[in-house]
Amino acid sequence: MAVDAGAIGSSVRRELGSGLRGKVAGPGDRGYNTARAVFNGMIDRRPLAVVRCADASDVVRCVGFAGRHELPLSVRGGGHSVAGNAVRDGAVMLDLSGMKALRVDPEARTARAEPGLTLGEFDRATQAFGLATTLGVVSTTGIAGLTLGGGLGWLNGRHGLACDNLISADVVTADGRLLRASAGENEELFWAIRGGGGNFGVVTCFEYQLHPIDLVLAGGLSYPAEVAPRVLRFYDDFVKSAPDELSTAASLGLTPAGEPTLSIGVCYCGPVDEGEQVLNPLRTFQPPVDDGIQPMPYTALQSARDEGFPFGRRHYWKSGWLRNMTDDAIETLMRFLPQMPSSASGIGLQQLHGVASRVAPSATAFPHRAEQYDFCILSQWSEATDSDRNRRWTRAAFEAMVPHLEASVYVNNLGDEGPARVHAAYGENWPRLVAVKRTYDPDNLFRANQNIDPSTDTGSGQQ
Ligand SMILES: Cc1cc2nc3c(=O)[nH]c(=O)nc-3n(C[C@H](O)[C@H](O)[C@H](O)COP(=O)(O)OP(=O)(O)OC[C@H]3O[C@@H](n4cnc5c(N)ncnc54)[C@H](O)[C@@H]3O)c2cc1C
Repeated sequence: MAVDAGAIGSSVRRELGSGLRGKVAGPGDRGYNTARAVFNGMIDRRPLAVVRCADASDVVRCVGFAGRHELPLSVRGGGHSVAGNAVRDGAVMLDLSGMKALRVDPEARTARAEPGLTLGEFDRATQAFGLATTLGVVSTTGIAGLTLGGGLGWLNGRHGLACDNLISADVVTADGRLLRASAGENEELFWAIRGGGGNFGVVTCFEYQLHPIDLVLAGGLSYPAEVAPRVLRFYDDFVKSAPDELSTAASLGLTPAGEPTLSIGVCYCGPVDEGEQVLNPLRTFQPPVDDGIQPMPYTALQSARDEGFPFGRRHYWKSGWLRNMTDDAIETLMRFLPQMPSSASGIGLQQLHGVASRVAPSATAFPHRAEQYDFCILSQWSEATDSDRNRRWTRAAFEAMVPHLEASVYVNNLGDEGPARVHAAYGENWPRLVAVKRTYDPDNLFRANQNIDPSTDTGSGQQ
């Protein structure tokens, strides 16, 4: 029976709450405003109810409740989706951020992790055993959304993406079952959740492969704008032949004084003395203004960028894959950089490399398997009055870059950009994803995401 979202009140919230281990909050209740606030300060949405799930049984109950009443459902892990997909107006919001259990098996080098963990919480626990796996580069991000979309971080060259390190997941599907997905169980579901986002169910536990990670040789080099084109050309040649142990990211931005600047971040995860040799040409060919590369604990690297991404600032991102860093592409970037309206913003070129690039595009739902850069204009600012200016500049810079980019995009960078862009994020894997969606979520209960609509015509004659 459908419920009128406007009429739903405390009695329905009572029904939702009965038997739950976690708590339900509606408008006016304590915790409601904190839970509905997400990383991107542009997002101000009011769910019907927020359920702070305590465990998988709470998730099963909520999925059943939303399905029975035909209510929209959203899922919050770390709340970092720039599109704000964790929260929807009038929806039942499953807030999983309190589910933070983590069990490391140091012998098997695996970890079973609940979906409320942030990268920093995960890394701290696994590093206690000298272990880690690929996650992202800002430690406050949630493991859940990051892994389900792919997960590109400092270990990708040596160990693949976060989703490549997934051994299994527990998934609550739209029919209320709790399924285990792995290489040997519910294989199509397992394939789809490694890149297909939250389209197929709610993951209540991720099992990851871990790897020995000791000190890493990491940090950044910075350069003024005058030498940036030359450095970018050298950097592009250098990283193309770099060993898998080296993962890098370049970033263009403004100094606090408003001067255009280029920085190159690196992480070498093999022996430090080897890393010193590998990095020597990059560090010496053009003396940087600053060289912060040094041996450091992996957890220090993982939190090094956190300060630049505080919770609650306004964000607008535009993104695509850059395969060829041509002179024209560099010239375009350098032309737009000086007009960047906010010194908090950046133009990122995060390298997908080595092991992550050599996985077959159809082996997981994440199809972007090539040596290339995840190009992303990450605009951020504080005041609402600056929004138009920042968005305008971001769109103009992105449009100018489009001729240099692939037609595809990393799904986890997408804002609210429409179905064609979601399709572009899945490329050749789209028809198979639609087929898996039809099997596990034919009514599209899980649609507060970069949505794979099960009714899409995939050209297979089915709709
Ligand atoms: C500051 C910042 C830095 C970033 N850096 C990187 C990076 O280095 N590498 C990278 O790959 N990405 C990066 N990202 C992108 C990031 O991967 C996505 O924003 C991702 O969605 C964050 O996951 P979350 O759990 O925090 O997000 P949420 O907003 O909580 O969730 C995003 C979506 O994931 C789905 N979801 C979340 N939890 C579950 C679950 N348990 N079950 C089913 N579906 C679920 C839902 O559909 C939800 O809509 C970054 C983002 C930010 C804001």
